[in-house]
Amino acid sequence: MAMNNYDVVVIGAGVIGTSVAYHIQKKGYSVCLVENGDVASGTSSHCDAVALICDKDPGIDTKQGYASLLRFKELREELSYDFDFVQRGCLYVCESEPEMEAAKQYVEAQVADGYDMWMLDRKEIFEKEPYLARDLIGGFWSDPDAGVNPYKLCFAFVNELKKLGAAVMPHTEVLDIRLKDGRVDAVITDQGEIGCEKVVNCAGVWAPFIGRMVGIDIPIQPRKGCIMISERGNPVVHQKVQEFGYMMSKFDSISYTRNVDPIIEENNVAMVIEPTPADNFMLGSNRALKGYNIASEIDVMKAEAMRGIRFFPILKEINCIRTYAGMRPFVVDHLPIVSEVEEIPGFYIAAGHEGDGISLSAITGKMMSQIIAGEETDFNIDQLKFSRFRKKA
Ligand SMILES: Cc1cc2nc3c(=O)[nH]c(=O)nc-3n(C[C@H](O)[C@H](O)[C@H](O)COP(=O)(O)OP(=O)(O)OC[C@H]3O[C@@H](n4cnc5c(N)ncnc54)[C@H](O)[C@@H]3O)c2cc1C
Repeated sequence: MAMNNYDVVVIGAGVIGTSVAYHIQKKGYSVCLVENGDVASGTSSHCDAVALICDKDPGIDTKQGYASLLRFKELREELSYDFDFVQRGCLYVCESEPEMEAAKQYVEAQVADGYDMWMLDRKEIFEKEPYLARDLIGGFWSDPDAGVNPYKLCFAFVNELKKLGAAVMPHTEVLDIRLKDGRVDAVITDQGEIGCEKVVNCAGVWAPFIGRMVGIDIPIQPRKGCIMISERGNPVVHQKVQEFGYMMSKFDSISYTRNVDPIIEENNVAMVIEPTPADNFMLGSNRALKGYNIASEIDVMKAEAMRGIRFFPILKEINCIRTYAGMRPFVVDHLPIVSEVEEIPGFYIAAGHEGDGISLSAITGKMMSQIIAGEETDFNIDQLKFSRFRKKA
C-alpha cells in the first residue's frame, strides 16, 4: 500500500522527535511523524521532569542547555498546551570537603562562562530545604533551571503539528528505509510506504536499529535509570535537589569516592529528588548499562531509598507508591548527535541525549530545522556532528 509523499519523515515521537517535527513543519516543510507506539511511549515517559544546566559539562553542553531554556520560554507562549514549564532553580548538596571543593571548581567554571550559579553554606541550604540532614556542609544553587512535564510537552508539540497540517502516525513501525542512487527515497512501515526526501532519526535508544537500515553504525547505548514515586503529602522539597555525587555517577571524568554502602556504589546510585505538581515527589536515580530491559530492580530501589533517607531523613516516614525505569540514550562523550549523515544524502540524526533529552529538546528541534533548511545554526554545533565518531576510528 503506497502512502503520501512528504518533504521530511521524522521517526520517533518522544520529546526529541516531536520537537524536531514541530520546528521543521513551522519552517514550511511538509512533515510526517511516525511512531511505533503511542506518542511519548519511549524514554520520554519513563524519566524525571527537569530542564537543567547544572548537570552539564561547562562548554557546548551547558551552552545548548541554556539556549534550550530560552527556547522553552518562547514555546510556553507559542504552543497552546501547557507543559508545566516552571523556572524554580536547582539545589546541589555536598557531604564532604572534597565534594565542596569539586563543586566550587565547577561553579567557578560556569560563572566564568556567564551562568547564574553560586555556592551556598550550611545555613543557606537549610533555609532552602529545611528537611535536609543536619550534617550536610553546603552546596550550590543554579538559578536558571526549570521543571518541564515531558509527557505534556510531547502532546503540546503534536497538537501544534496537527494544526499546522502535519501527519502524525502513532502505532506505525518503521521497518526499512529505501535509498535511490544513494539518497533517501522512502520510509517503509508496517502501514505502507511513505515517500520523502529527508528522514530524521529521532528514535532515542532505538536509533542504532534505524541506522542499520541505511548501513551505518550509530554508537548509542541504553543507560538504565530507576525512579520511585512517593505518596502525596506536604512538600518535602521545593525544586530539584541532587547530591553532588550525581555528577560522579554521570561523568566518569570526576574521580573521587563517596563513603557509601556497597549496594549504593555497585548500583551507581546518586540521590535526586524533585516535587511534582500533584504533590508527590520523584526519587532516584541510578545509571547502568543493562541492555533493553526496563524492569524495576529491588536492589536499586533499596539503594535509592537508603540514599534518599541519608539526605532527607523524613523520607523514612513516607511510602513509595510505584516505581519505573527508563533507558537514557547514552553516547560515550555525553553529547547528543544532531547532524546530517554526509555519506547518505537526506539522512539526519537527532538522538543520543542521554539524561538531558528533556532539557535539550527545545533547542535540538530548532537546530535540526536549521540544518534541514541549510541555514546556520544559532551557534556552532560541530561537536554534535555524527562525523566525530568516524574521525576517532
Ligand atoms: C530515569 C531517567 C530520568 C531522566 N530524567 C531526565 C530529566 O530530568 N531531564 C532530562 O532532560 N532528561 C532526563 N532523562 C533523559 C530523557 O528522558 C531522554 O533523553 C529523552 O526522553 C529521550 O527522548 P527521545 O525522544 O530521544 O527518545 P524516546 O522518548 O525514547 O523516543 C523515541 C521514540 O522512537 C520510537 N521508535 C523506535 N523505533 C521505532 C521504529 N522502528 N518505528 C517507529 N518508531 C520507533 C519509540 O517508540 C520511541 O517512542 C531521563 C531519563 C531516564 C531514564
